[in-house]
Amino acid sequence: MTATIDLEAAQITLREERDRVVSQMVDLGADESGELTGAVDYGDAFADGGAATAERTEVLGLVETLKQRLDDIDAAVSKIAEGTYGTCEVCGKDIGHDRMEFLPTSTSCVDCKNKS
Ligand SMILES: [Zn+2]
Repeated sequence: MTATIDLEAAQITLREERDRVVSQMVDLGADESGELTGAVDYGDAFADGGAATAERTEVLGLVETLKQRLDDIDAAVSKIAEGTYGTCEVCGKDIGHDRMEFLPTSTSCVDCKNKS
């Protein structure tokens, strides 16, 4: 079974996903680089020290996760440009259409992923 990856569709998916991630980061008060801009005022609800710190730590964790996601998306976008999109970084085989469709930022095939 050979199914070619629809690069155009992948690019659209990745762009949409990127927009979504960036807007989530903005919602959390961070910019694209993962830096907190301080634009979000957490307000009186977090006025007491402990809660504010816990909240901030949680936000930083979320931002970090989103930033990694953004990096994955950007990496996938450059792979499309380089023509290596959908190729396993570990064994060099095709990752497979289904997996790329399911997870457009995949960089390794299921076999290699399971081994790592
Ligand atoms: Zn592989």
